[in-house]
Amino acid sequence: MKPHLQVMKFGGTSVGDASCIARVAEIVAQASRVGPLVVVVSAMSGVTNRLIEAATCSETGDRERATELLEALREQHFEALKILIQNPETRNLIALGIEELLREAHRLCQGTALIHELTVRTLDSVSSLGERLSAPLVAGALSERGVPSEAVEATELIVTDSYHGASEPLMEPTQIRCEARLRPLLQQAIVPVVTGFIGATAEGVLTTLGRGGSDYSATILGGALGADEVIIWTDVNGVLTADPRLVPGARTIPEISYREAAELAHFGAKVLHPKTLRAVTQSGIPVWIRNTFEPEHPGTKITPQGRKSSAGVKALTAIRDVSLIAVGGPGIVGLPDVVGRTFSTTSNVRANVLLISQSSSQNDICFIVFSSDAKRTVDALRQQFAQDLMHQKVEHITLDPNIAIVAVVGENMRGTVGMAGRTFSVLGRENINIIAIAQGSSETNISFVVSSQDMKRALLAVHQEFALDTRNAQETSSASK
Ligand code: ASP
Ligand code: MG
Repeated sequence: MKPHLQVMKFGGTSVGDASCIARVAEIVAQASRVGPLVVVVSAMSGVTNRLIEAATCSETGDRERATELLEALREQHFEALKILIQNPETRNLIALGIEELLREAHRLCQGTALIHELTVRTLDSVSSLGERLSAPLVAGALSERGVPSEAVEATELIVTDSYHGASEPLMEPTQIRCEARLRPLLQQAIVPVVTGFIGATAEGVLTTLGRGGSDYSATILGGALGADEVIIWTDVNGVLTADPRLVPGARTIPEISYREAAELAHFGAKVLHPKTLRAVTQSGIPVWIRNTFEPEHPGTKITPQGRKSSAGVKALTAIRDVSLIAVGGPGIVGLPDVVGRTFSTTSNVRANVLLISQSSSQNDICFIVFSSDAKRTVDALRQQFAQDLMHQKVEHITLDPNIAIVAVVGENMRGTVGMAGRTFSVLGRENINIIAIAQGSSETNISFVVSSQDMKRALLAVHQEFALDTRNAQETSSASK
């Protein structure tokens, strides 16, 4: 029988310092007694941000600040090394590796400062150093505990396109490389510790999968190796019914579907990188979200179907840093190209459109973008519609930054009558004004827009209406019986 293979990914806070890495080593050591596993690690928390800052400072010519930042990184990693690794040979080897990587960082920053230009390729190379620094530390900590392990750079494994900063994996060559490089290690009971976040083009140029991309690395490797499960170890107890800082009664959801998890990830629940589930959609490999700091907690299991029995609403999520843009006025009624021109404009300025709503009277098209994209988008729209504004065909293009999107998510809301009714009645009872509404025909998500000061109240009211605090508690206890 094929042994049960796990891929375990540990995020930045899970490898935040020596004592966190020691916990990780303990979790991995235990799992490695049961079966083969591949470990994927993020950079130590804060490291990627510092590297990116060093690169951007260098672009402006601020070499001193860049040097200062890299010096802080040296200290952080040497400090962890000193505590974690006692074996002089291993320690020496890792120390040499850290020095070499930091020299590389200096060279890249100096090159950037010299030409006053930070290319996307250089930025990828600099920001990748965090994972390249952390993987040997984690592998060393495992060896120190008697678990044979080897740090492996994902540039040897994950083949991507050349879209720097947000590359996509090419699964076929990735699979071939993973078989060639990782399978032999697994057969010898060696735990590979792979750098998250990075890959390389077929020509060998380093790329990154995008910020927070180590989750995606884990499912890419899981998919490529045909793993039995992927476990994302983070610093919260799985996926919650809502953000517990806003909704104190929020609880862990024992099991949700790929679809629901993807909806939640898209709408600002930060537990999972939005692309993570792409890599396992075909194979249906379950993905767990678990807490490194509370390893007894079962966390959340994400499966292709979720738990069939549970009807209705699963979770709520909200995003605040967004703005509402409206293009409207009676002048646009029946104008055939307004929608097309509006969204070709957002696409030209690379604004990510999060929600769209247009009533059938066509008086008004409104949509939501991240606030960081809002001004650029409105300027471009005013330019696009300059002629029409002059002739009053379009009467206004407005921007409202003081809003939030709240999304009510649940795969089995589909076909369940009354979900929208209950949501909006409770908001009415709470006297919360709804600015816009959207529900796609997939019916897995009802999104509405409220003013940002109403967001928390809206979340609390809907959470209570659907008894999300108690419902999930019941599910957990019936599941463990
Ligand atoms: N270290 C990378 C980042 O901070 C990737 C990750 O942590 O997932 O974005
Ligand atoms: Mg992360």
